[in-house]
Amino acid sequence: MKIILLGAPGAGKGTQAVKIAAKFNAAHVSTGDLLRKNIKEGTELGKKAKEYMDAGRLVPDELVIALVADVIKDADSFLLDGFPRTIEQAKAVDRITEIEKVLNLQIDETLLMDRLTGRRVCKECAAVTHITLLNGADKCALCGGSLYQRSDDNETTVKSRMEAYYKQTAPLIEYYEKQNKLINVNSGRDSADVFKDIEKILMQRSVNRVSAAEKKYN
Ligand code: ADP
Ligand code: ZN
Repeated sequence: MKIILLGAPGAGKGTQAVKIAAKFNAAHVSTGDLLRKNIKEGTELGKKAKEYMDAGRLVPDELVIALVADVIKDADSFLLDGFPRTIEQAKAVDRITEIEKVLNLQIDETLLMDRLTGRRVCKECAAVTHITLLNGADKCALCGGSLYQRSDDNETTVKSRMEAYYKQTAPLIEYYEKQNKLINVNSGRDSADVFKDIEKILMQRSVNRVSAAEKKYN
């Protein structure tokens, strides 16, 4: 499968991506994770990207495109999480490969700030949780690892990330609608329920592909 997950920061792309990748055996490609890895390792790219990320701005297109191009060039099953985020990036993807479907995770804007500022990530297993689920605990429920808050999950940076989303990323909705690839998913619900819908959509897609192939041979 070649799928893109679209949605505002906090819409749940990362959470769903992990579940989809496991269930459908696809590579989970998260530009946010790849950039944070570069920052941690102190690479040249990491140094450049950090300034933008801390300010809640998008990292320049040429840097992220180069990062992803290599990964998707020869892959036949992947899920893009957090990429493309600009029309320029989307055009780059179209030059490299053919995307099947774009899942647009829709959520009420008023829920996003709370989701992001309350988000905590496990240092050990990278699981994502929310302070309202922790009841005061400070360790990961899955592995007992310590939790931290991402440096860009503060109110000021979140505001800039939202702005970047509406200005630079939201136009992709129309871009993929025109390509007949967009499927909207209501993401303002429990993540397990959201995943059930996504599973149905992705299963349906394989059924469609089989019947299209059958038509060809009948
Ligand atoms: P979220 O979707 O919750 O904002 P991500 O981890 O996807 O979180 O992204 C964090 C930051 O990484 C973004 O605010 C941006 O600075 C940078 N980034 C990630 N993906 C891209 C991209 N495709 N283009 C430009 N910048 C990106
Ligand atoms: Zn953990």
